[in-house]
Amino acid sequence: MPEQAGATNVWTATVLSLFPGMFPGPLGFSLAGKALESAIWRLETVDFRTFARDKHRSVDDSPAGGGAGMVLRADVLAAAIDEVMAGAEVQRPLVYLSPRGAPLHQKRVQALAEGPGVVLICGRFEGVDERLLQTRGIEEISLGDFVLSGGEPAAIALLDAVVRLLPGVTGNPGTLTEESFEAGLLEYPHYTKPGEWDGMPIPPVLLSGNHAQISAWRKARSEEITRLRRPDLWRRYVAENEEHEK
Ligand code: SAH
Repeated sequence: MPEQAGATNVWTATVLSLFPGMFPGPLGFSLAGKALESAIWRLETVDFRTFARDKHRSVDDSPAGGGAGMVLRADVLAAAIDEVMAGAEVQRPLVYLSPRGAPLHQKRVQALAEGPGVVLICGRFEGVDERLLQTRGIEEISLGDFVLSGGEPAAIALLDAVVRLLPGVTGNPGTLTEESFEAGLLEYPHYTKPGEWDGMPIPPVLLSGNHAQISAWRKARSEEITRLRRPDLWRRYVAENEEHEK
């Protein structure tokens, strides 16, 4: 891979967080880590705390109206966000990781991978002051219907999903097109040596060398698994295929 550091067209993630030390974290390993090292993508972190203005360098305060926990201040976070967005040569989507956001799907992951990068806001405590979300054109993305203690693990998961789609990151791009969600289905099961394990053989069709039969078998398994495990995906898949046949 040619050295691309400093090039403006490198896919760039900027993460705004109270805990920049959590990055690259897991993204420093394996595929994402190698790609980071060879500058296929770039990762910058911004510490909200450096934008605090009072002598205690506070970034949060108690919730208006009372209640438990602390809320991240709009003025401090906006100062950080505005500096990042103003300094950028190309505008990147601005995303707040939030359980109230739109659930993250592979389609959004793909679109992010095709763009110039992303700016991620990681919340902590009870979250951020609502006025920040109203004024800064922020997209809210959720990892799922559960509550994390901070946006950082969600940012790491989102970046992991995007980075593996960037050109040159995954050795064999064929592995990307066959995966879960690519065709609106969950993936078929995999097997490898030994040929028999724990009394169970590998399904003979996979050893037949007949590629048409193997494809048909895999598609049938994909459909079966999706139908049984994810009726929501299955309904959408059936509806879309009926649409195509019209
Ligand atoms: N009080 C909030 C939860 C705050 S959790 C609520 O009930 O909605 C603290 C931070 O963790 C959030 O600001 C957000 O950045 C992050 N977070 C928690 N759960 C998340 C999820 N499912 N997806 C993405 N980010 C999440």
